[in-house]
Order: sequence, then structure tokens, then C-alpha cells
Amino acid sequence: MPRIHQLDANLVNQIAAGEVIERPGSALKEMLENAIDAGATQIDVEVEQGGVELIRVVDDGCGMVPDDLKLALSSHATSKVRSADDLEKIQTLGFRGEALASIGSVAQVIVQSRSRDLEQGAQLACDGGKFSSIDVWNGRPGTRIEVRHLFFNLPARRNFLKTIPTEMGHLSEAVIRLALGFPHVGITLRHNDRDVFDIPANSPLAERITRFFGEEVGNKLTAVEAEQGPLKLKGYIADPSVNRGNNRLQYFFVNGRCIRDRTLQHALQDGMHGLLMVGRYGIGFLYLEMPPELVDVNVHPSKAEVRFRDNQSLHHLVRAAVRKALHGLPMHNTLRAPPANNGSAGAWRLQSSPPPLRPLFPEPARQISERAALPELPPPIRSSETVPPIISLPAPMPAVQEVSEPYVPAYDGPHALQFHNSYLVVLEGEGMLVIDQHALHERILYEQLKDRLRAGQLEIQRLLVPEPVDLPAEQHALALVHQDAFRQIGLELQPFGGTTLLVSSYPAILKNAKPAQLVRTALDHLGTAGEAPSVELLLDRLLCTMACHAAVKAGDKLTPAEMDALLAQRHLCTDSHHCPHGRPTSLYFSKAELDKQFERV
Ligand code: ADP
Ligand code: MG
Repeated sequence: MPRIHQLDANLVNQIAAGEVIERPGSALKEMLENAIDAGATQIDVEVEQGGVELIRVVDDGCGMVPDDLKLALSSHATSKVRSADDLEKIQTLGFRGEALASIGSVAQVIVQSRSRDLEQGAQLACDGGKFSSIDVWNGRPGTRIEVRHLFFNLPARRNFLKTIPTEMGHLSEAVIRLALGFPHVGITLRHNDRDVFDIPANSPLAERITRFFGEEVGNKLTAVEAEQGPLKLKGYIADPSVNRGNNRLQYFFVNGRCIRDRTLQHALQDGMHGLLMVGRYGIGFLYLEMPPELVDVNVHPSKAEVRFRDNQSLHHLVRAAVRKALHGLPMHNTLRAPPANNGSAGAWRLQSSPPPLRPLFPEPARQISERAALPELPPPIRSSETVPPIISLPAPMPAVQEVSEPYVPAYDGPHALQFHNSYLVVLEGEGMLVIDQHALHERILYEQLKDRLRAGQLEIQRLLVPEPVDLPAEQHALALVHQDAFRQIGLELQPFGGTTLLVSSYPAILKNAKPAQLVRTALDHLGTAGEAPSVELLLDRLLCTMACHAAVKAGDKLTPAEMDALLAQRHLCTDSHHCPHGRPTSLYFSKAELDKQFERV
């Protein structure tokens, strides 16, 4: 029978590290929080090799006295709580007293610190849990902590780390959350000796948002403000015309702490209800202030979630404030429901001034000479860091080919009738077919793209002027990791400083899609997929995204010729019955079934 024994303290810390310190980004998060708790107004972060080699955080906070250094690196030791009562009203970001001890047990750490009231500081090293002796340190007041070789003594953990760009994405995200949570604090981030962020102290929140998420978001912000009893809400939301395929740009802060919370996310979405398409997510940066006893922060090991005393009031407050803020906004045209189709005005009769049509098929593209295709780029506009992708560089782009139109066979079958600018009704065999125009077109494009990709015939259209896309740091990293797969489907992406990418080409078959939007939606889908997918799966997802984007939408009016073309290509599909997402493209009503429904038989 196995006997029970007490674990030694260092092993206990390593086990705790498993929960709190998942990767370099989580170590940085804890160190940043400590700097804030110490009252820092300037924090400088330097990292090497995605933080695996080095994370160094220098702050100008209150510092520590020499006698406290060892305690700082010991578990269950903290200056932030003393009694169970304190736990009920936590005002600091930290309180568990185990972050530094955990980091010290799985890395090589040096803590250097000087209290503001002392002439001299001290330093202490901790190598996988083994302490050095305490030495004098002659630095400035504040604290300087270096964490080297994270997980050096836990190879299994180390092997779980992802590519440098991915880890860099997590590190950037930690800095972004802190910079958004504490706008009075200045913060810099350098990676491998290059600037990533340099955010001056007291720079306004809106400016920070623009810096991190680009002007597309920054230019569309509306202030949100509300108060209800002891609850205060402030912040910004973006006009719902700017939205995303996941909820990553929904930031919530409770007393400065960045948290994830379903109630708050739901309230924000609910506030924008009717202004967002199904499956799209609004963008918001919302700050709640409340007395600490109304929120329990001691429910999650990395303090990423909290529990509120009264979820319902919060939901109400956020939802109402978002609604109110939107009320004053001039609504974007595309947010309105498409104008109702006037009665029975059939698809055959062309209206005197038809709405602008989205051409169903690409026009033959101009052939672009290599010369014209390579305009000189303006220099990057930001001080920037370009993270080197770890994957090998993809092969050079195929030469620009003349773009051929997809083959559309002649159509001599029965014509269709469009209704609600969304569905086509057409006679087929012994009955009739109701077709979802978007789903069918999506399927057709998807199969064409797939065939061409398989046959190596996916024509590339180069953009005369490459299009910049501003991305959140994490997605920027993701895009670089999958640069090769994007290139295989004709989307060539290049780093352009900061978290901006340049799209310089796109698959010619998708003439109607906006390249930047394609990239964004594809990344949103990858982002929600969890682990990095195989190249094959990734390509398939990107093809789905591209097809969905480029296909006619429900609400688009089609000309008779466009309907014919759609029907003609339907017969070329291997599976014309399902869209790439698996929904049906058409419903069939047989004569026999109609007879039965009308009780003729
Ligand atoms: P916690 O933050 O939960 O107290 P940590 O392990 O993160 O636990 O830190 C332990 C203690 O070390 C803190 O309570 C604080 O007193 C001290 N400390 C850590 N980092 C700093 C810093 N940057 N400046 C001043 N004191 C610090
Ligand atoms: Mg802490």
C-alpha cells in the first residue's frame, strides 16, 4: 500500500506554479501587478525570445527593505493581507503571496530592490528555489526583477510553450491589459532589444486604445458612463459597425483589474442587440468601480475571474449604459435592415433605379506587371517590433498569372424567382426547390477555391497599394505563425511595424471581398479554434471564410442573369445540398408532398 508523506516546500511551490504560471505571459502579469501594488508610475519591461530567455521588469514603486527579499520569494508570504477580514475587502491586485515563490521555483530569478526611505538597496537570487545570500545593491529606489530560463527545471512544461510570436502575443496582451487598466502609469515593452510599446504615463485611455487596436477602432469610440448606487461604470464602446468574430475586444476592468465575465459580456452584447449580425461581437472597454466588499476576487488562481455580489444589477447597469450611449450615435447605413421588398414586384421586373449590385462573378482582372505590382512602400509609421516567425520562410510567390474567370456553363433550365432578396424558387423535376442564395453561392465558391488550390491554379491578384490591417497583438502573432498557410491561399501578409500587417495579394477569384476583412475574419475563426490546427484544416477554414465573405448575401438583389449563373453552377458542385458549414442550401418540395399537404391524396 502506498504510504503518505509531506511534500517538501519547493515541490509545493512548483505544483502551485502549475496553476499560476502557465507561460512567460502569466509570469509577466504577476510581476506587473506587483509593480502596480507597489505604487509604480513607470514600468519598463524587457523580454528576450518570447520571454523564455528573459523577462525583466523595472518599476519605480515603493521597493522592499533588505529583510523582506527572502519573504517576497517565499510562499504564503505577502504584505497585502493579514486577516480573514482583509480578504473580504481586497484593494490590491495581489493577495495570495505565492506568485514570486512559484516563479522562483521554476526559473532563475534575481530580485533587486531599494526602499524609497533607504540609502541602499539589496539583492537576492533564487535558482529553482535555492536562495543565494543577500547582497548590497546600489540601484535607484524601486524594484528590478529578472526572470531567466522559465521552466528550466521542468522540461515537460517548457515543451508546452508555443512559438516565439505566440508567447510574444501573450506577453503583449499582459502589457495591454495593464496599460488599459491603469492609464496614469507609463509602460514600455521591448523584445530582443527592439521597442514594441512605449506608452507615456497619463496618456489618455482613448489614445491607448487607438495605439493598441488601430484607428479603425479608435476613431469609432463613444463614451459610456453610468452610476447606480455604489456601482460606477465608465469607458468606451465602439460603434457596432466595427465588430469582430469573437469577443476578445471586450475588455472589462473591476477596480482596475482586467477580468473575463460572462454576465458583463452578455450585457454588452445585449446592449448592442439588433445592431450586430448574428455571430458578431461588439467592442468595448468598460471600467467598473465598486466597493471591494461587493466583489470576491479570491475565486480563480490567476485572478482572471471574480464573483459579484449582485450580477443582475451589474447586467442592468452595463446594458442600459451601452444602449444609452448608442442612442446618440448616427447609425451606419449597413446596420439598418434592408428595405422591404415592395409586395410582389417580382425579380423579373427591374426597378427603375436598382440598388447597387454586388457582381456575382469576378470581372476579368487586369494583368499587372511585376513592376507595377511592387510599388515602393512608405517607411513604417511606428516605432516597431517585428517578431520573427519561427517557421521556415515560405517559397517565393508564384508569378502573377492572367486571371481566368470561373467556368460558367450555359444554362437552359427553368428560371428562378427571387423573393425577399434572399431565396430563389425554381421548378425542378416533379416539384420545386427553394434555394438559400447565400448558402449556395458560398458552396460554389468554396468548391471552386478548393479545386483550384488542389490543382495549383489559384490565381493571385496583387494589390497595387498593399492594404494595412491593424490587429490585436495576439492575432498579429497568430497571423505570422500561419503566414505560410495564408500565402498558400493567396493572401500574402507582411509585418509592417507594431501590430499592423500589410496584405499585398489575395485570391483573384474573390474579387468582391475586402482583403483586410478576409484576414480579420479568418483570424477570428482561428482564434476561437483553440490549439493550432493542421495546415490542411487551417486551409479549409480559410477557404470557408473566404467563400462566406465573397458570396452574395441574404438581402442582395440578383439579376435574372445572375440567378441563371448560380443555378448553372449548382450542377457542377459535388455537394450542392450543403453550405461549407453544413447547413442546407436548398429545400425540395415534391409534387407528391404538396398533394399530400393539400389533402388531394
Ligand atoms: P502577492 O502579490 O500576492 O502579495 P507575490 O508573490 O506576488 O504575492 O509578492 C510577494 C510580496 O513581495 C508582495 O506582497 C510584496 O510585498 C513584495 N513585492 C513583490 N514585487 C514587488 C515590487 N515590484 N515592489 C515592491 N514589493 C514587491
Ligand atoms: Mg503579486
